[in-house]
Amino acid sequence: MYTDLSRMQCSVLTQLCMAHVGLNAFLYRFHLALSPECPLCLVPETVTHYLLACPWF
Ligand SMILES: [Zn+2]
Repeated sequence: MYTDLSRMQCSVLTQLCMAHVGLNAFLYRFHLALSPECPLCLVPETVTHYLLACPWF
């Protein structure tokens, strides 16, 4: 899956698969975001929400 991707693309894909990415649901766990929610939808800003549901992204 990673063979044709750049180093940066591999990094982002790995972060998304592990849910260790700069989305509010993850950042909030470490007190790096004020809220775990998506600013537009007011639901937890998870990878699933980011990729499949959020109209903003
Ligand atoms: Zn959203």
